[in-house]
Amino acid sequence: MKSLHEQLQQVRQQIAAAERQFGREAGSVKLLAVSKTRNHADILSLAQLGQLDFGENYVQETLGKIRQLTGQPLTWHFIGPVQSNKTRQIASHFHWIHSVDRIKIANRLNAARPSGLPPLNICIQVNVDAEPGKAGVAMDEAGQLARQVLPLSRLRLRGLMALPALSNDFTTQRLAFAKLRDLYDRLISAGYPLDTLSMGTTNDMPAAIAEGATLVRIGTALFGPRT
Ligand SMILES: *Cc1c(COP(=O)(O)O)cnc(C)c1O
Repeated sequence: MKSLHEQLQQVRQQIAAAERQFGREAGSVKLLAVSKTRNHADILSLAQLGQLDFGENYVQETLGKIRQLTGQPLTWHFIGPVQSNKTRQIASHFHWIHSVDRIKIANRLNAARPSGLPPLNICIQVNVDAEPGKAGVAMDEAGQLARQVLPLSRLRLRGLMALPALSNDFTTQRLAFAKLRDLYDRLISAGYPLDTLSMGTTNDMPAAIAEGATLVRIGTALFGPRT
């Protein structure tokens, strides 16, 4: 097993290579380290190498890590499914949430965001492949949700997120990401001030970068397989 340092170097190089290959500006794709199930010592190791953005799926698990890492200049992103009874903790302890898919959750986050903090950064999660039972708003309802979220003053709408159906075929991966990018471009044309297209994981990162991802969410390639 390679060291975390080596894995981080490798992922950074893969991002840079995909930027070059697909005509993206160098440095235009941000790495979000998905640290669910990993301990605070591993997060600290990456932080000391300059990796400061971390993604988590479970609120309770994250609160412990945030406490243990107090004083580190980290940015915490919530990327998992949101339960209504967790919105207060998410609004109080995270800087970003990528998985807003209904107005009820947005309203609760808006009401709970502490006034001493800047607005909570939001991405709307879209179910791009219309998978039954999958988190995310339907493609044709995303515009309406964006319109409802935009005026909420304690939230700042930043962009869109998707976790497409698993595929190992590059062309299939690109087609799914292209759908999200089209929607993103349409919202920007309609005047929404978006700057974040959150798409791509260990399995499909180059395809996501080819289609315009501005942020990739990488766990396994950084930390090894989850147990
Ligand atoms: C776990 C997770 C990831 C990271 O997936 P890897 O395959 O480990 O890179 C990215 N996005 C979301 C929403 C996740 O839940």
